[in-house]
Amino acid sequence: MAILVTGGAGFIGSHTCVELLNAGYEIIVVDNLINSKPEVIQKIKQITQRDFKFYQADLLNRSELEAIFESNTIDAVIHFAGLKAVGESVEIPLRYYHNNVSGTIILCETMAHYNVKRMVFSSSATIYGDPQSVPIKEDFPLSTTNPYGSTKLMIENILQDLYLSDKEWSISLLRYFNPIGAHKSGLIGEDPKGIPNNLMPYIVRVASGKLETLSIFGNDYPTIDGTGVRDYIHVVDLSLGHLDALKKIMLTKGINSYNLGTGKGYSVLEVIRAFEISTGQKVNSKITHRRPGDIAECYADPSKAKIELGWTASRDLYEMCLDAWKFAKQQ
Ligand code: NAD
Ligand code: UDP
Repeated sequence: MAILVTGGAGFIGSHTCVELLNAGYEIIVVDNLINSKPEVIQKIKQITQRDFKFYQADLLNRSELEAIFESNTIDAVIHFAGLKAVGESVEIPLRYYHNNVSGTIILCETMAHYNVKRMVFSSSATIYGDPQSVPIKEDFPLSTTNPYGSTKLMIENILQDLYLSDKEWSISLLRYFNPIGAHKSGLIGEDPKGIPNNLMPYIVRVASGKLETLSIFGNDYPTIDGTGVRDYIHVVDLSLGHLDALKKIMLTKGINSYNLGTGKGYSVLEVIRAFEISTGQKVNSKITHRRPGDIAECYADPSKAKIELGWTASRDLYEMCLDAWKFAKQQ
């Protein structure tokens, strides 16, 4: 069985490729490397001791995509490819809509043409907007506050309409909470270009002396210690969720959304403490003003994924910090 993985050289995609190969799947990876490095493909092969085809291609390039479907027998697609920086999406919204939404439409059209109607899609908890309560369930109201989030919500709506128009489709919408950590080998992980926007990549750069001080964005939120609370999930746990979603879409038709989170929220101060305790590294930090658009608390009710996919996260915050640090030290 061959699985096409779009965005397979990226952070979550690369870890999912490792788990797919370890589980015995044949994979084909498509990535334009706009936000990833070609070495990652070698690292996936090194970790798994398995070979696979890699195409450096853009989803927006219909003829290249068609050629990939023409020359391979594909059973299902796991669709990670997309641009993901919230701030950048505010600055260059058209690029985000074009890349993420048009890219997905071209992918779905190509899939339909080749009669491949099974997809696992990378959605995001950002589509819950500022939730009225936590933990968040899949049937909570959806809304977005930036173009990146809007692309995710639009794609979910497009995929819903696609299924309504053709009940042969089988689609899993996976709403990720906050993936951090890295593969145990330290060979693959999250390595954003430039100054990181997200908490954990920032923490590891401060700990390794590449950046001076972590700014904690506000300590006056109505949370346990005033700092923002998120549901951090180990990227390997998240990746394994894709294998469970894949098993489900191979067996049943329909479209379903699932929260992939741990169900536990941690504040920024708690994450810093866990990082310092687990790695023994000091993280210099200072409290600054709130980041515009940030919400106080966001964590999942992951019970639907447990009941319907048989999936739960098992790695704790200490392991996430240790693995992120191991990867960072090797960069
Ligand atoms: P990433 O940037 O590391 O990986 C995405 C990959 O897609 C990159 O390798 C990039 O080069 C590729 N890509 C982008 N546009 C492409 C195109 N048009 N054609 C071919 N390849 C293209 O990001 P990630 O953190 O691994 O995220 C994977 C998916 O999960 C994304 O869709 C992202 O929006 C979503 N997501 C991520 C998070 C997170 O915190 N990391 C949270 C929720 C959802
Ligand atoms: N955060 C912070 N300093 C940073 C980056 C993030 O204090 O340099 C906080 C942020 O305000 C939020 C939490 O860390 O409360 C997680 O932020 P991240 O950007 O990683 O995820 P998101 O806000 O998109 O869930």
